[in-house]
Amino acid sequence: MVSKSPSGATPASLRRTHRGLMLSRIQAEPGVSRADLVRRFGFSEMALTRIARDLLGAEIIEEFDPPAPDTGKQRRIGRPRIGLRIIPKGVFAAGITVSAYFSEVSICDANGQTIARQGVDNTSFEDAAETARLYSSALCALINETGIDIDRIVGVGVALSADTSPDRNEIVRSEYFGWGNDGGQFWEEVRRNTGLPVEIENIANALALSEMRFGAARDVSEFALAHVATFAGVGAVSDGRVVRGASGGAGRIGHFRSETRSLRCTCGRNDCLNLSATGFGLLAKLGKLDHDTFDCSKLPVYARSLLAAVDDASNADHLHEAGLRLAEALDPLAKILAPELIILSGTLGSKDAYFKGAEQELTASFGYGPDSGFRLVKGVVSPADAASLLALHTFCYSDRLDFERLHNSASGNVKEAASA
Ligand SMILES: [Zn+2]
Repeated sequence: MVSKSPSGATPASLRRTHRGLMLSRIQAEPGVSRADLVRRFGFSEMALTRIARDLLGAEIIEEFDPPAPDTGKQRRIGRPRIGLRIIPKGVFAAGITVSAYFSEVSICDANGQTIARQGVDNTSFEDAAETARLYSSALCALINETGIDIDRIVGVGVALSADTSPDRNEIVRSEYFGWGNDGGQFWEEVRRNTGLPVEIENIANALALSEMRFGAARDVSEFALAHVATFAGVGAVSDGRVVRGASGGAGRIGHFRSETRSLRCTCGRNDCLNLSATGFGLLAKLGKLDHDTFDCSKLPVYARSLLAAVDDASNADHLHEAGLRLAEALDPLAKILAPELIILSGTLGSKDAYFKGAEQELTASFGYGPDSGFRLVKGVVSPADAASLLALHTFCYSDRLDFERLHNSASGNVKEAASA
């Protein structure tokens, strides 16, 4: 998952890459031994010992004696086998989820367990910079409240319904919020308020990366995640990396052609999948809309109505029908990407009736079955957790870990400095 072209690599960049690889493995396989890691990665024992010493000194990992497998034979003799594991409270990551469904800031530990979260009361998403101010100050308050040393927080992940360019720290556009290119304002605002590294990502991509690291797609490098709530979008992962396309707008399946409705999509058409396979289409079917054209000022209304609608058992047939429509988009997706896994997620995508609709239609109309080469599964990561998990993925289990900052803030090193 963490890879870098060996060409142009310096010893320092190589060490960063190796650290990321080792940490990822230790997180995925608690108790792994140094010898296992040497075998797996082919580092020299000396290089591995140095990285392990660094990570132990920075209080990111610890050694322990893992319980012996119960083989029914007599007790082991000789030296205990020393395993390595992540210290859960050694490192933290923060998240900002800008959504009408899960509007909140959160903090998770090094294993991705949420340890604190706070809802953000937000009724207007009109202005990107203003929204960034609101959420980042809520996050600063949460960090203060938990008393976590800010130097142990690796970074902030921002997950929202927008096309983003994480390389340029920009929101490219958001049809959902009605934003154009923000010129990096959102990122800048969160960065300035928190003082932490920031990564901004589309919600479907953030969920896909979270599922790959901690959830349904663990150790899967070819898969797609369809996030379906008010609208639908896809996060596609190939070779362990998000597929972004030329403009950062890859995965906009919501604008695939589908049945014609008396509704209007953000793109102006009346036959987009966004109008039939999604929450917006469902609300219209249920008679919950008093207008035909998608309206950004009504996002909280859509979310509230939809949350109530999906939990009402009498709407199961409508959910099933919407899921069936999504299958029309999953078919070309499967044919283009040949994924190992397609994950359904989101307020609509995670519901049984919707999932079954998609599953049955893939079999009935498109001929998919057990031998189709991919599995359709439900996501296990909540959209509310994707932002902080994105931060862990980006700033802890990768070559972007700011090791010096963690090393300098380790309690052992503080004591050393104090007694010097
Ligand atoms: Zn459209």
